Amino acid sequence: RAKAEGRGTYRFFEAAMGEQMRDRRRLEHELRFAIAKQELSLVYQPQARTNSREIVGFEALVRWHHEERGPVPPSVFIPIAEEYGLILQIGEWVLRQACKEAARWERPLSVAVNVSTAQLHSPNFVRITREILMQTGLPPSRLELEITETALIRDPGRALIALRQLKELGVRIAMDDFGTGYSSLTNLLAFPFDKIKIDGSFIKSVHVNRHAATIVRAVLGLGHGLELPVLAEGVETEEELAFLCAESCQEAQGYLLGKPQAIEKYLHVTTDRSAEDTLSPPAHESNP
Ligand code: C2E
Ligand code: MG
Ligand code: MG
Ligand code: MG
Repeated sequence: RAKAEGRGTYRFFEAAMGEQMRDRRRLEHELRFAIAKQELSLVYQPQARTNSREIVGFEALVRWHHEERGPVPPSVFIPIAEEYGLILQIGEWVLRQACKEAARWERPLSVAVNVSTAQLHSPNFVRITREILMQTGLPPSRLELEITETALIRDPGRALIALRQLKELGVRIAMDDFGTGYSSLTNLLAFPFDKIKIDGSFIKSVHVNRHAATIVRAVLGLGHGLELPVLAEGVETEEELAFLCAESCQEAQGYLLGKPQAIEKYLHVTTDRSAEDTLSPPAHESNP
């Protein structure tokens, strides 16, 4: 009986796995058409100074609004895009869109864009980035590329070459989710990073959690020693922000300072004059 039950349980899991696989396959198929169907968009989350709360830049985060499923979170579709080879196309769309939009912001704040492993290792990535900067007119100094430690591992030599070429373009490089990957300190020395982003998991309750506080202080010490500014992700409470301020963490990002939203919620966007001129005739044209 036990054996039969065991087999039943196994069949149950097998069926559930099959279902999950089919669902991923379906999502992958639909994701292929998401760009053409204009179902992808960007939201922006402010990055601010901890002491003055002055916004210094925004992180662009991709959103997929599926016509029937509604919003599908990036934690679901980015891994699928990576697995099925769609991330290069999506990543290029995100980079172009973010640069195009940021070029029209009324204030010249920086825009941070997430770069996946496959993008960083693609032989075309540096050229594509250069072309996008030229086409959109965004000054390279306003673009920051966020790279996780995991993205360095596949081929560290190749990653280093790409990062150096990107730095030559004048863009900045931030290490994203610091503390969650392989977190070797040598990565910070060997690769030309301009900023460290401490993962939000260490910020949660940092003011009461001694272990989290120890880790955050250690990263801040590292940043100080290497002269790299540190940004704390996932700041949700005043207590967390006060702790970061007291420990001289320069920048913060999180729901406390602003959720990821349409950029219009934060900034005025200048209208694209050239597009406007060609689309609408001058208002007084009908007057003789
Ligand atoms: P990430 O780059 O570390 O982005 C930060 C994530 O934390 C975002 O989730 C953001 O909405 C969330 N977050 C911000 N503040 C808070 C907070 O106070 N509390 C909590 N609990 N969460 C907060 P999101 O937008 O769902 O994105 C998740 C991940 O998906 C990103 O992590 C990034 O790894 C990836 N991702 C998002 N957009 C892109 C993209 O355009 N390209 C690539 N390659 N990956 C992306
Ligand atoms: Mg990021
Ligand atoms: Mg992060
Ligand atoms: Mg993350």
